[in-house]
Amino acid sequence: MNDIGSMIGILIIILVILFGIFMLMREVMCWYWKINEAVSLLKSIDNKLSRNSSNSVFDQTGTSSSIPVGSTNYKKCSQCSKLYEASFTGEFCDQCGAKL
Ligand SMILES: [Zn+2]
Repeated sequence: MNDIGSMIGILIIILVILFGIFMLMREVMCWYWKINEAVSLLKSIDNKLSRNSSNSVFDQTGTSSSIPVGSTNYKKCSQCSKLYEASFTGEFCDQCGAKL
């Protein structure tokens, strides 16, 4: 009887230790994957930013010559944000029909 009782005690202790290790690993994995999630999110944000502003003033590493001449001389449709060159003579947006 005493042997069975001590075996059950040891078994419970082992289960508690395994549960503790499991919870610890779970915490570590959560922390680890959140880091990965953040890194991939930052990479996608970085990709979007560099795609959208490849010729903008946000490009700190480029010299002023990397900004195309006249890049600021654009008309922007207030409705659909379509960009037109300053030389565009039309009065209306040809995408949505709003007055420029
Ligand atoms: Zn428009």
